[in-house]
Amino acid sequence: MISAPATPTPAPLELPWQQADAHLGSWLNTPCLPTPLPAAHWVGRNDTLRQALGLPTDFWQHPQALEALSGNLVLVGSAPHASVYSGHQFGVWAGQLGDGRALSLGELQTPMGVQDIQLKGAGPTPYSRRGDGRAVLRSSIREFLASEAMHGLGVATTRALCVTGSPGRVQREEIETAAVVTRVAPSFVRFGHFEHFASNGEHEALRALADHVIAHHMPQLQALSGPERYVGLLQEVTHRTAKLMAQWQAYGFCHGVMNTDNMSILGLTLDYGPFQFLDGFDPGHICNHSDHQGRYAYARQPQVAYWNLFCLGQALMPLIDEQAPALAALESYKTTFPQALDQRMRAKLGLTDEHEQDRSLINSLLQAMHQDRVDYTVFWRRLSHAVAESHHAQHAFEPVRDLFLHREVFDAWLDTYVARLDNANQAGANNRHATGLQMLTTNPKFILRNHLGELAIRQAKSGDFAMVQDLLTVLHTPYDEHPSFESWAGLAPEWAASIEISCSS
Ligand code: AMP
Ligand code: MG
Repeated sequence: MISAPATPTPAPLELPWQQADAHLGSWLNTPCLPTPLPAAHWVGRNDTLRQALGLPTDFWQHPQALEALSGNLVLVGSAPHASVYSGHQFGVWAGQLGDGRALSLGELQTPMGVQDIQLKGAGPTPYSRRGDGRAVLRSSIREFLASEAMHGLGVATTRALCVTGSPGRVQREEIETAAVVTRVAPSFVRFGHFEHFASNGEHEALRALADHVIAHHMPQLQALSGPERYVGLLQEVTHRTAKLMAQWQAYGFCHGVMNTDNMSILGLTLDYGPFQFLDGFDPGHICNHSDHQGRYAYARQPQVAYWNLFCLGQALMPLIDEQAPALAALESYKTTFPQALDQRMRAKLGLTDEHEQDRSLINSLLQAMHQDRVDYTVFWRRLSHAVAESHHAQHAFEPVRDLFLHREVFDAWLDTYVARLDNANQAGANNRHATGLQMLTTNPKFILRNHLGELAIRQAKSGDFAMVQDLLTVLHTPYDEHPSFESWAGLAPEWAASIEISCSS
């Protein structure tokens, strides 16, 4: 008898896990195993990030990769845990929350520095409350693509390595299938972590957490001691958050659930749920259908971030003692944010210097765009092309003008703009070509519009993941032309307005 050749057992997948930081004890992290995901399969794989993390070339082919990133296997050296946090939700103190469906597998040493690797949707944790610890396919694809779209735009964000799916059923408004996203960030610490220990009066834990964040992510504060050190932390988070808000507003990104437990201490965009990139410009746009009051409407985001920073400031008070320096740190937001926003808007307009009239130039443009619900992304892209061509083509601005119903309003704005542009860029019209090309590097052609995500999700539900992968490729370099994906750069179809995204995920 001839016996079948034995299938070689693959070598275990060995990754450079860091030793757990002894500083972060059981007061923060609770060991917790993932719940297996039946018959797991790949939905989306981010090879660019795989490479940047220094993971092996054949990583995706390793059978343990699929299993480990679906929660079916714990790799040697990984120590899965969930952390506790609290927070304010929709302006109201919500008490203890915690990682209800996120599990950190541990920290990896990578060429991008030490990175925390999290599974989202890998089953219940001690903090799941009444939740099932799962995530559905649609929300996992949205988080995967949005993280990478934001990164492609240059916005600070957590990253996403992959999504795995399963026929396993999950009950939401209807029965859906389960999926797991692997998220990557230097840290997933939230404002809510600080609020948690402050509200429980656990001041030594609060200090240890603050010291941990400073030691690992804000080395410039290491030399400071006493209250100054924690004022420095508040100042740094205020600065990063202000910069982040300027980015969100400039790209027309609406987060949807800016609760303090979704605010990153590193100023990263965190926890993608009912987010949306604006189609037609509307400052009052509410992307989360569960947000009945419009607390998190697009135009309110910078103010909400400021409110959230006050919650963080309040939480840090036991370490700061005196109010005045904490208030001064928070106060800096009022200058950092508008300056950062103006700088971004000037860049979008191709203005290379500052002029006191710029705010009114920007405001009058946004008013005109709001009046006609002009598509926010298409406008900036067309304006960039128009500026680039306007030195030789008389009608270069026609495609931009076509976006407006009130043409006379646009014409009046254009006159002021062109005069300002030529004056800013001294050499006048001759310089417009270079200015336009520069604007194309700041005004993206592609954003993750709701309807594009929706189409990719529909296809994925029927087992076809090609659009998820193609969107990932295009969104990684959204300033490039990608001529074969031209239709993804167009205006949203009418049915896009009927897509309803709620907190359910
Ligand atoms: P979010 O606003 O989606 O970031 O979630 C708010 C809180 O609810 C967090 O503590 C989550 O971990 C938790 N949560 C959301 N969905 C689930 C779920 N399906 N199972 C367990 N916890 C969840
Ligand atoms: Mg959250």
